[in-house]
Amino acid sequence: MGHTSYNPYESAKKQFNQVADQIGLDSSTRELLSQPSREYHFTIPVKMDDGTTKTFNGYRIQHNDARGPAKGGIRFHPEETVDTIRALSMWMTWKCAVVDIPLGGGKGGIICDPRTLSKGEQERLCRGYIRQLSKNIGPNLDVPAPDVMSNGQHMLWMLDEYETITGARYPGAITGKPVGMGGSLGRTEATGYGVVYNLREALKELNIDIAKTTASLQGFGNVAEYAARLYTSMGGKIVAISCWDNNDKAAYTYRKLDGLDIDKIASIKDSFGTIDKQKAVDMGCELLKGDEWISQDVDILLPCALENQITPDSFVKVSKQVKVICEGANGPTTPDCDELIKERGIYLIPDFLCNAGGVTCSYFEQVQCNMNYFWPKEEVLEKLDQKMTYAFHAVHNLAKEKNLYTRDAAYVIAINRVAEAVKLRGWI
Ligand code: GLU
Repeated sequence: MGHTSYNPYESAKKQFNQVADQIGLDSSTRELLSQPSREYHFTIPVKMDDGTTKTFNGYRIQHNDARGPAKGGIRFHPEETVDTIRALSMWMTWKCAVVDIPLGGGKGGIICDPRTLSKGEQERLCRGYIRQLSKNIGPNLDVPAPDVMSNGQHMLWMLDEYETITGARYPGAITGKPVGMGGSLGRTEATGYGVVYNLREALKELNIDIAKTTASLQGFGNVAEYAARLYTSMGGKIVAISCWDNNDKAAYTYRKLDGLDIDKIASIKDSFGTIDKQKAVDMGCELLKGDEWISQDVDILLPCALENQITPDSFVKVSKQVKVICEGANGPTTPDCDELIKERGIYLIPDFLCNAGGVTCSYFEQVQCNMNYFWPKEEVLEKLDQKMTYAFHAVHNLAKEKNLYTRDAAYVIAINRVAEAVKLRGWI
């Protein structure tokens, strides 16, 4: 997905190997951690509403579970690739390790476009996915969650199928479930809020008043929407949002130089994050080309969509005013662009730290499910803020102390934790 000439798995391996060199990681650990532990590839036959049967391709990839059960979302996307899921599973390992939660890394995907499937077809697809995978996931094995274009309802259908097959209730087997059905309050907000907790701390370190900043956002799915909500509630101004229009099969940037009203924009988006073009124009938004979000004169760029969006080609358009890049998406920046970001002195909040709020709240969801006692939203968000703030400062301080790029500092912490777990278990 994203820019086609970049392979996210190659990027993930390159990032890992660079830091493995820096910390002198032994070759056996390097060999183990530079690839997934297990992969499941399977077909999912689904009875369609028109009476035909369509076969979808599903995947679940477990990168590493030395620190705890594998954890990670299942994404639905027509252009999903095995290599993207491999990369995402690897990034999940680092993500759980950098925020220090006792989980490993995994990721799943189904090549499909849920926007074109009826509710019944989506339900049969979710149940079919679990039928193929039920022996290889579970609360102590591998715990799925939502990701791009999958949601709480999908997770609940999946859990129901899992519990039907196993014959008991295992609420901790899947996270991101609807509230009241084993879901945690705050899970919907968690990833986007986590992005902004990181941003708030970065701006404090840079001595910048958040209320005087402007930002441009790519994407308007769950992560982007809640990042925008919290950022604007802290006084920041979002001047541009770019998102995919599935009718036109094109992306657009919606701009309002005096600041977009996030409540209003959210009220005209569909459940897949597409903003209604006509309604946005009626609200007074300028309609620009999809890639123009990156060239806005703002202080902060928030890529919260897909991989490979900030490349050397697109980076030349980044305004000199930009001081912070906050990677809400997984893998939005290609490795060949990191040098350019460093040269410009832009402060980068790396993806697997920046967007770790979702999985951290998933972990809280599991804890609550295991206790069968649910916390109020304030408590969830307070615990989330603490975890994210602590992780941010650990990365920031290491970067400062050792003069490292923030992405590398996050990798050093995460790789060291996973390498230690692997060694303590006696795998190496
Ligand atoms: N899909 C989210 C991520 O990429 C959340 C994963 C989870 O909650 O397990 O971090």
